[in-house]
Amino acid sequence: MIIAIDGPAGSGKSTTAKRIAKILDWLYLDTGAMYRSITLYFLENNVIYGSGNDYKNTLKEIKINFSDNKSNHVFLNDKNVTEKIRSTKVTNYVSTVSMNPSIREYCVEIQKKIAENTNIVVEGRDIGTKVFPDAEVKIFLTASVEERAKRRYKELNNDSIEFKDLVQNIKSRDKQDMTRENSPLKKAKDAILVDTSGMNFEQQITEITKHIERKISI
Ligand code: C5P
Repeated sequence: MIIAIDGPAGSGKSTTAKRIAKILDWLYLDTGAMYRSITLYFLENNVIYGSGNDYKNTLKEIKINFSDNKSNHVFLNDKNVTEKIRSTKVTNYVSTVSMNPSIREYCVEIQKKIAENTNIVVEGRDIGTKVFPDAEVKIFLTASVEERAKRRYKELNNDSIEFKDLVQNIKSRDKQDMTRENSPLKKAKDAILVDTSGMNFEQQITEITKHIERKISI
């Protein structure tokens, strides 16, 4: 069975999806980590990006693994990049890289393989719409830009990042993710919309668990 959790940057997808997976004792998959790993590879190897380029050959040099899908450490060609893929440089570039069709195809194929014959919570942008349109449960998480930037600011706990820059980054990623031609971020028709503005984490989990329990017996 698949629980798909989609939503914009900073909507609380990762923390929520991880907790739900833990409660259910299901696997967890962070699909954004894949696009981030490819972006890191491009930056470190000076791969020139073009939105229409076919990166099939470059992608053959890229191997992405998760240590185990529960602790969710990410390995790029056997190197642990869990921290590195969260850098500002990667964050600023990832929405551009993830627009490319050959890159999306590569990631989706891996996502489908990981989710085969298992119970899994998958988070991303296009999980309920494109990757797993038949997922048993679809949640679309959202929150105001201000609220999402506040959460990121707290999470990052880094004096060198200005709040206004985070707001800007979130806005521009939203725009790129929502308006791209290929698998844009949008709520699947049958997804449950949960606006988490003003909710604390425990309230979010309670709300989402309620929706999940309505859809599947757990
Ligand atoms: O979830 P996270 O913020 O780590 O995702 C980073 C970026 O990867 C997103 O802004 C989006 O551009 C891309 N992404 C995507 N499709 C997914 C997951 C992430 O395009 N399923």
